[in-house]
Order: sequence, then C-alpha cells, then structure tokens
Amino acid sequence: MYLSLVVPCLNEEHGLQRFHDALVAALSGRVRDYEVILVDDGSTDRTLREARRLAAADPRVRYVSLSRNFGKEPAMLCGLRHALGDRVALLDADLQHPPELLRRMLPLLDSGYDQVVACRTRSGERGWRSLPARAYYRAARRFAGVRLPDGAGDFRVLSRRAVDAVLSLPEHHRFSKGLFAWIGFDTAYVAFRDAPRRSGGSKWTFGALVDHGIDGLTSFNAKPLRISLYLGALVACAAGAWIARAAAKAIVDGSRAPVGGTLLIGMGGLQLCFLGVLGEYLGRTYVETKRRPQYLVKELGPDVSAHRSRPAELVP
Ligand code: UDP
Ligand code: MG
Repeated sequence: MYLSLVVPCLNEEHGLQRFHDALVAALSGRVRDYEVILVDDGSTDRTLREARRLAAADPRVRYVSLSRNFGKEPAMLCGLRHALGDRVALLDADLQHPPELLRRMLPLLDSGYDQVVACRTRSGERGWRSLPARAYYRAARRFAGVRLPDGAGDFRVLSRRAVDAVLSLPEHHRFSKGLFAWIGFDTAYVAFRDAPRRSGGSKWTFGALVDHGIDGLTSFNAKPLRISLYLGALVACAAGAWIARAAAKAIVDGSRAPVGGTLLIGMGGLQLCFLGVLGEYLGRTYVETKRRPQYLVKELGPDVSAHRSRPAELVP
C-alpha cells in the first residue's frame, strides 16, 4: 500500500526541515512506501528553496509550487490531484497536526474505513476562542446538512476511492471539510490535542477566517436562501400584525402609535441582509460559470506525476 502525504505550505521555511524529520520518524518502521507532496502556496519566503532542498535529499519528497498564494483549499486540491497513493493523508506543515497520530489513523483505514478524521479536542483552548468555533461547527452542520463533528479539520487520511470521490466534485469554491463529509463512506474519528505552532504564525487573519466561514456556510447548498425567505416571511407577518393592531387602536380610541420609523429601519436592515445573501449566491454562480482553474502551477518538482492535473494548470 502506497501512502501519499499532502502538505500545503505557505511561508514555512523555518519549519519544513523539522516537519520532515518528525514525519520520517513517525512513519519509520510503520510505512515503507510513501511520498510527501509539499504544495508551496505562493510563499514569499524561502519555502520553495527548502522544498527543492528536501526533495533533492530525500527522493520520497516531491513538491509543486503554485504561481501565487491561492489559499489552503486550492493548495490541498492541487496536492490531492498529484497524489498517487492508495491512501492519502492531509496534514499541515506546522506540526499542529502531529504526524505520530498517523500511527493510529492508518490501521483504522486499513481495517476498512474510507476516511479517518482527526478531531482536535478543545482542551486548553480559551473559552473566547472555542465558543465561536463550536457555534460555527453547529451552524455548519445545520446549514450543510452533513456530519461535521466539532474539531474535525483537514487532518485526515483517505482511501483512494474517497480521494477520487472528492476530486470528482467539480465546484470551484471548495469547502473541503464539508465536501469530505458530503462524499460519505465509512468514517472513523480520532481525537487529538492541538499542539501550538512550532514556528512562524498562523496564516489566518480574522478577515480570512470570517470569509472562509461564510464560504463554508454558503458554498454548500441554498439553505441560507431558504432561511432568509422564512425569516423575511416571519418579519413581514409580524409587521403586518403590528400595523393591524395600530390601525385597530386608532379606530377604537383615536390613538396614534408611532410605528413607521422603527418598522422601516428594521425592514430595511433585514432586506439589505437578504440582498447580501442573494448577492453571495449570485457572485458564486458568476465565479463558477467562468470555470477558471482553482490554481496555476509555477513549478513541478522532479518525479511529480502530472497526469491528474488539467492542462490549464500546468506550466508549458
Ligand atoms: N496554508 C496554505 N495556504 C494559505 C494558508 C495556509 O498553504 O493560504 C497552509 C499553512 O502553511 C499550514 C496550513 O495551511 O501548513 C495551516 O495553516 P495555519 O497553520 O496558518 O492555520 P491554523 O493552524 O492557524 O488554522
Ligand atoms: Mg496551524
């Protein structure tokens, strides 16, 4: 059984060697045949040079470098497309996804599961950090309508047919956590404690995180549109009832309740919000119809199989 390890890297020059050492140590004696695919996601530091160096020193290391920073999702997609393994693992380059955990995950996959997902326990995480995350997972579960346990991230091992299933989904806007859950198949979960980052900082700014969150909620299905429809109907009914009550009071005792201003502001805000949701979908449809590739490749390391890439993504 051949294992591919897909590792998206953005500005990880200081951590790559340590990551490689930890990975080799974790796999030694357990997995014989494997390849590590480092996907340099348009790093501005010397990550690509590090990747070239590691690939030259260890023939199991391969790399692909993207023409600019496209984001973690496209980088993972690129890695999955180039992976040749019967089993494919996805993990971060910063050692926050401990490679030792693969020793527990791989036997589960071999015992018949198609996906083994590492879920981080939120022990040690501060309340103000974990609370929104938990709430988000709950919302994502409800909106996406798929199984998305709290703490399940991108750290996972997939069987070949699960990888092929994910790659067969053609959408441009990708929310992998949701797509992995959407394809189904037997899935096992393994808990782990998130380690602090070993070097560098998180690449997620607050804005990027919010963007990713909105992507996740709206890229999956049209449920938010449905919810805005329900909410709109509810508010319209409430407003109708309120006006009817004010009118009845005016007729009975001649009082004039001030309703106009408050109602207008409330309804206006709500309408803007719904227009936003609508616009989000329209924009998404617009982007999807362009059918641009999710990323462009600048450099393919030696030995990297190119046959899974679409022609537009390859350097001539
Ligand atoms: N990453 C990437 N492209 C990006 C952002 C991140 O390839 O645009 C990689 C990054 O190098 C790391 C992984 O994705 O290997 C997770 O990123 P990070 O550690 O910043 O995320 P966090 O752990 O804070 O969620
Ligand atoms: Mg990290």
